[in-house]
Amino acid sequence: MHHCFARTNLNSIFALLLLMSITGFVSVPLMAQTPNTSEKKPFGIVIHGGAGAPDKQQMTKEKEAEYHAKLKEALQAGHTILERGGTSLDAVAAAITIMEDSPLFNAGKGAVLNFVGHAELDASIMDGSTSASGAVAGVKETKNPILLARAVMEKTSHVMLAGEGTDLFAREQGLPRVPNEYFITDRRREAWQRLKDKEKENKTAPNNKTSDRSDAPQIPDSEETGFGTVGAVALDRDGNLAAGTSTGGRLNKMVGRVGDSPIIGAGNYANNKTCAVSGTGHGEYFIRTVAAHTISVLMEHRQRDVKTATETVLREIETMGGSGGIIAIDKEGRVALPFNTPGMYRGYQLNGAEANVAIW
Ligand code: ASP
Repeated sequence: MHHCFARTNLNSIFALLLLMSITGFVSVPLMAQTPNTSEKKPFGIVIHGGAGAPDKQQMTKEKEAEYHAKLKEALQAGHTILERGGTSLDAVAAAITIMEDSPLFNAGKGAVLNFVGHAELDASIMDGSTSASGAVAGVKETKNPILLARAVMEKTSHVMLAGEGTDLFAREQGLPRVPNEYFITDRRREAWQRLKDKEKENKTAPNNKTSDRSDAPQIPDSEETGFGTVGAVALDRDGNLAAGTSTGGRLNKMVGRVGDSPIIGAGNYANNKTCAVSGTGHGEYFIRTVAAHTISVLMEHRQRDVKTATETVLREIETMGGSGGIIAIDKEGRVALPFNTPGMYRGYQLNGAEANVAIW
């Protein structure tokens, strides 16, 4: 009885409110308003310019400033795209193109030389929302390998091109072409020459002129010879992750040697469910540990956070005898940038805040 009365009362109150709302006395929201959260969605970009930075004492203040400025320029290019609602793929490609065009890094212009003194470039890009991927290995005449990797992803049914097919496809796509010498700077040629002289002195490498082999694993980590690969990972406002990596590989590498950078899952990986990753360092170890994909698996199936997952994989690489660094951003915009070398050129810019760059 009481119950019935209560309901009648409620019904009449509701009817009254409805009447008032129709007549404009009071506004009753008929539906919960969809909150406008687009402003609050995290977004950001993380980049690296390789884990081959020398000890702080070995670098001049001017050089350090040059690296900082270039890293900031790359970050800001990517971050501006994200801030305006652009895609993580566009942000990654923009940041990497800037670093490829800079002679400071071992990617594009400024790439290290292989055993016979040529530049052979590798790159890859991955879209975390679809798993679409593109990769190129052994590029010799295409100015921006990252754009070529993207063209493989977007314009072909394949994932990876290697060797002469890469530059042929670039030509077909109308991507800027350059002679191989464009990539080779004096600094890289000198580093290569010094290594060749040392090889001769030590007779550590076969002195066979017809051989394309370099058995010399004696490459020290230094500004000239160390890891200078570039990479970028980004999260856009739509929650899509992307990763890109581009490199000249390792100094004095065998002709045809392919590192981890163009291997999806090794040096580069993105998955909207977890994170986007780019690596730098001893590529062989990143391939053996399937480093970038393992980080994603640790997050998806072992509930590790991005920091723990990247550190776990880097420790495994170190245990095996490898060194390098990793950058990652997860789907919430949390970042990780661990490295086990003296320094890694790196930076991040998140959610409209200032860019942060560091080397050591
Ligand atoms: N990971 C690259 C490679 O092995 C080298 C680097 O990071 O500089 O090709």
